[in-house]
Amino acid sequence: MSKADTGYIPTKRKANVYDNVIWQFNKAADLMQLDPDIRKILERTTNEIVVNFPVKLDDGRIEMFTGYRVQHNSALGPFKGGLRFHPAVDINEVRALATWMTWKGALTDIPFGGAKGGIQFDPYKYTINELERITRRFTFALGNNIGPEYDIPAPDVNTNAQIMAWILDTYLSTMLPHERQACVHVVTGKPIESGGSIGRDKATGQGVVFTIEQWSKDKGFDLEGATYTVQGFGNVGSWTARLLKPHGCKLIAVEDVSGAFSNPGGIDPDDLIDYASKNKGLISGYPNAKSIDSKSLMQTQADIFVPAALENQITGETAPLLDVKLVAEGANGPTDPEGDAILQKKGIDVIPDILCNAGGVVVSYFEWLQNKRSEFWDLEEVDGKLYKKIINAYVRVRDTVKNYNTDWRTAAYIVALSRLETVYKERGIFP
Ligand code: NAD
Repeated sequence: MSKADTGYIPTKRKANVYDNVIWQFNKAADLMQLDPDIRKILERTTNEIVVNFPVKLDDGRIEMFTGYRVQHNSALGPFKGGLRFHPAVDINEVRALATWMTWKGALTDIPFGGAKGGIQFDPYKYTINELERITRRFTFALGNNIGPEYDIPAPDVNTNAQIMAWILDTYLSTMLPHERQACVHVVTGKPIESGGSIGRDKATGQGVVFTIEQWSKDKGFDLEGATYTVQGFGNVGSWTARLLKPHGCKLIAVEDVSGAFSNPGGIDPDDLIDYASKNKGLISGYPNAKSIDSKSLMQTQADIFVPAALENQITGETAPLLDVKLVAEGANGPTDPEGDAILQKKGIDVIPDILCNAGGVVVSYFEWLQNKRSEFWDLEEVDGKLYKKIINAYVRVRDTVKNYNTDWRTAAYIVALSRLETVYKERGIFP
């Protein structure tokens, strides 16, 4: 299928993931007839911060790094979004991820806008001490461009609770002593002892599983014995697999950056997590499954495919390979517009990223609230509140699919954009 068949016309710039966001945005904005003035605001980011900063490596050499923070929109509340450490991080990727964060906050009805950031480098090539200095120096370079009531980072690809703890400590260290205690909510996804929330580590996977449960109820599809495949076995992929296990679902193929494996008899997620934890977080060499290539993973016949790695994995080239009933998008932007059109033609259901993986930002909001109120909620409370948020959003998207006779991604955009449109109309534009 050519790009023209889908109505997708990339800009003259190198095709990038931000083009996908704008394409998705235009499709929804056209269908819902979004106010043209509000459209002008939402199709642009608010602030784009690029910082170049030096870090001393263990051998005494100095290396320069480039970091980004893009703040897309704050109409609904402070900017909010993760930080990614990856060689492919660039301004367009960060713009795209920041924009999706705005839609996610609006869709799940939480008082946050959208932002995203990251550093363009491969963290696997640095020691733990270097990683700490890179993180701290990046935080210092961002300065007051982040803040607990202004812009609140969280973990994303190759960042975790430990990185958040270093950011928190660096941020607090640059404050006056009497201000420090009021600023623990400058990042979310922290270790629990440092102010994190119970349930934040599993929250994105938990949200993915809540949406899969609801899809199976709606379809009258029994999850007991259902087969699934996962691309990406980090935070989102591994938690999704762990949480699908009690439903009786069978993981039959899995891939991460180090390789792909299949076992038609089922791979035990806990066993694979245990293996990866002793293998630098990677699944390479896993003994209880057969090594396969990426294409075979995509071709594996299963009930559900969970992309939980990076963007642009389901494309004009790879979507024809998929033989599943449902794609549950754990990752941000795993499907490009060509891939989307093919999935639709093949009758494969899609739970779109801004709904499917919104559990992470929702529990980040809960963590932020707990910090502000000096409260500690138990897991039952966190999970119960998360369930309500995700299912409310799911139902609104499902209704919008019917009302507009459209696909799930476009419907999710319409729900999010309607909320933003209302807020802009109520407030008007200064001056
Ligand atoms: P992570 O770093 O914990 O895991 C990423 C996984 O993807 C790793 O297993 C890695 O090996 C794998 N991977 C990387 N490149 C790959 C490739 N080319 N092919 C196959 N696998 C590859 O990151 P994460 O936090 O789990 O994030 C995964 C996705 O979920 C990203 O798109 C992220 O933006 C999105 N997401 C994360 C959260 C969160 O709370 N962490 C929330 C919402 C969305």
